[in-house]
Amino acid sequence: MIFRNPAGAPELACDACGCRWFDRLDDKAECYECGEPVSEKMVEEYKAALAVFYKEKGIEP
Ligand SMILES: [Zn+2]
Repeated sequence: MIFRNPAGAPELACDACGCRWFDRLDDKAECYECGEPVSEKMVEEYKAALAVFYKEKGIEP
């Protein structure tokens, strides 16, 4: 699932336990709370949400 932090930026969180996974995205990652792997689909969703956020803010990534 994707949360938005108070600044409006998206944050990727674990589908299984709801914790926020990590500060950075590597090729392979898993939840440090429950070990649930991060799927490519989740990473894609996160990147898409981030792109929307940048566009809203007028930020060039
Ligand atoms: Zn988890």
